[in-house]
Amino acid sequence: MPGRLVLLGHPVAHSISPAFQNAALRAAGIPLRYEALDIEPGELSAALQSLIGQHAAGNVTIPHKEAVFRACGRHSDVAGRTRAVNTFWVEDDVLVGDNTDVAGFAALAREALHVPLATGSRVALLGAGGAAAAVLAETGSWPGVQTTVVARTSTRAQALAARFSACVLATDDLAAAVRSADLVVNATPLGLRDDDPMPAALDMLSPAAVVLDLVCRRGETAWVRAARARGHTSLDGLPMLLEQGAVAFTRWFDREPDRAAMRAAVAG
Ligand code: NAP
Repeated sequence: MPGRLVLLGHPVAHSISPAFQNAALRAAGIPLRYEALDIEPGELSAALQSLIGQHAAGNVTIPHKEAVFRACGRHSDVAGRTRAVNTFWVEDDVLVGDNTDVAGFAALAREALHVPLATGSRVALLGAGGAAAAVLAETGSWPGVQTTVVARTSTRAQALAARFSACVLATDDLAAAVRSADLVVNATPLGLRDDDPMPAALDMLSPAAVVLDLVCRRGETAWVRAARARGHTSLDGLPMLLEQGAVAFTRWFDREPDRAAMRAAVAG
């Protein structure tokens, strides 16, 4: 059992992870409280040393996922592919990292698509940061499916695509990537704020395209709501967030959490 359970981020006050992780802890009768710790980048290294000493475990969010990956003494294969850690624990005084965002995205995609995308299908991935890497770790393994990365910093999109399989490409042509896509995924923060533009204009979408937005906010994003109103299957990032948390819980406690209790804690 970990000595302490924490979320490391900056900022973290807005996070809903404590609500559903504490619900899972209560449902399992585990006498720990999941605490959000606001850690500035300059304080991360000292915080990790102290957490290793306390035998802590936990999650990592913006902006620390890459730095915690570098700080880990061991990591899972999937964390190696994404070069980012969102879940950690301590084994024999060594910090061990995993990336459960990949399993979270896989669950989100299953919920939206019901069946795997057929060979020859296309995915348009908007954004080239840590969340996009988690998406690529999943879609890059879908047989015969091509993923095209589009980001405002095109060098970042190219560098990210080059780390994955030959089925992953980068382009600057947002409209062409979105028009030909069967699945469009927003992995930018656009939509978090009320005055944000949509990640891609709705008239770019092909009629049967499925729309996934990794952004989570109360009442869903405007993009998800508008895409659904036009007849697209469309989900926001909440199912991904819950599942990455559920898989993290399994890593920490070697048992499945009560997913219904986790969902209920953030419903409404
Ligand atoms: P990140 O590493 O900072 O990457 C963000 C990406 O979005 C970069 O490509 C960035 O481009 C681009 N971007 C930022 N602001 C933009 C703007 N105004 N217009 C266009 N592109 C913009 O962040 P991340 O960790 O990948 O997270 C991205 C989003 O996914 C966040 O909203 C996060 O909350 C969400 N997320 C959700 C889950 C979940 O479980 N649902 C999990 C992880 C992340 P530049 O390189 O040019 O800055």
